Amino acid sequence: MKLLPLPDARRPLGKSGITVSALAWGNWRLCGDDVGAVGRLLHAALDAGIDFIDTADIYGPDNGEPFGASEQLLGRALAAEPGLRARIVLATKGGISMGVPYDSSAAYLGAAIDASLARLGTGHVDLWQIHRPDILTHPSEIARVIEDAHKAGKIRSFGVSNFTVSQIATLQQYLTLPIVSTQPELSPLKLAPIENAELDQAIAMDMAVMAWSPLGGGRIAAPADPRAQAVADALDAVAADFGVSRTAAAYSWIMAHPARCIPIVGSQKADRIAEAADALKVRWTRARWYAVLVAAKGEPLP
Ligand code: NAP
Repeated sequence: MKLLPLPDARRPLGKSGITVSALAWGNWRLCGDDVGAVGRLLHAALDAGIDFIDTADIYGPDNGEPFGASEQLLGRALAAEPGLRARIVLATKGGISMGVPYDSSAAYLGAAIDASLARLGTGHVDLWQIHRPDILTHPSEIARVIEDAHKAGKIRSFGVSNFTVSQIATLQQYLTLPIVSTQPELSPLKLAPIENAELDQAIAMDMAVMAWSPLGGGRIAAPADPRAQAVADALDAVAADFGVSRTAAAYSWIMAHPARCIPIVGSQKADRIAEAADALKVRWTRARWYAVLVAAKGEPLP
């Protein structure tokens, strides 16, 4: 049976000129005060070939910590080991304001970028993303603040998260910089980007796709309903053939799409971060890839 190609271990970050690993490590659940432990997680990722790190200024409150706590902790880990910052491709996000909830005004975003750089202890981030669309800001205002931050060398490239296809297309009309990435929720339990043209748009615009919650927030590892169990069973069949875990098979299912999506590994355990790289060992047949899709949809394809 004909196999789909193996994913490349590295890929371009859209039109940015930056190259990133095929998987990223995400910091939404990164919390606490153990700077050494964060360093060990970063090394687990780097040793597994994962150098693309995704955080956000709003990561903290979901862990019972203040706004900015997760960026701050990552910044302390980077400061503790000279040279580490240069080994990672650092992505963060802003634009969610506690109690507002979204603000993409030029004044807010400009201040948010500066505050993230201060917490991360870095002069620039490699990718800065708007976390969620603020429907009350005109795209021309966003374009101005992003281009200023880029010219000032604070952000090497710009991306978006949770934007619709038309929001991306409209914003791009006003920007001279390319939107290099988009970050939707994407997993076998969240198929919307496959079906609503987001991934097609990413191919057409040459944007990298960063898939958030690639395990459905852990539900693929521990299925609790018949749909998740059906997806797990379909993934297990492939995982067994390639001698990898179900979660590695789940990441590779996402990566097999021609948009070459980048799963953002959400685990905060070194062995699970390392194991994610097994996704690069899996090859899909069309029949098996579609079998996962059918399990995920719970109905046969037309
Ligand atoms: P996920 O990979 O879908 O879920 C990770 C969760 O699954 C962790 O709690 C992890 O626990 C658990 N898990 C259980 N068994 C596991 C196994 N065998 N292997 C790996 N994980 C297992 O991802 P996520 O944390 O929900 O999201 C990933 C990243 O996406 C975030 O860190 C963030 O960077 C990004 N994100 C972005 C947005 C956005 O709006 N742009 C929203 C949400 C997330 P352990 O830590 O105990 O392994």
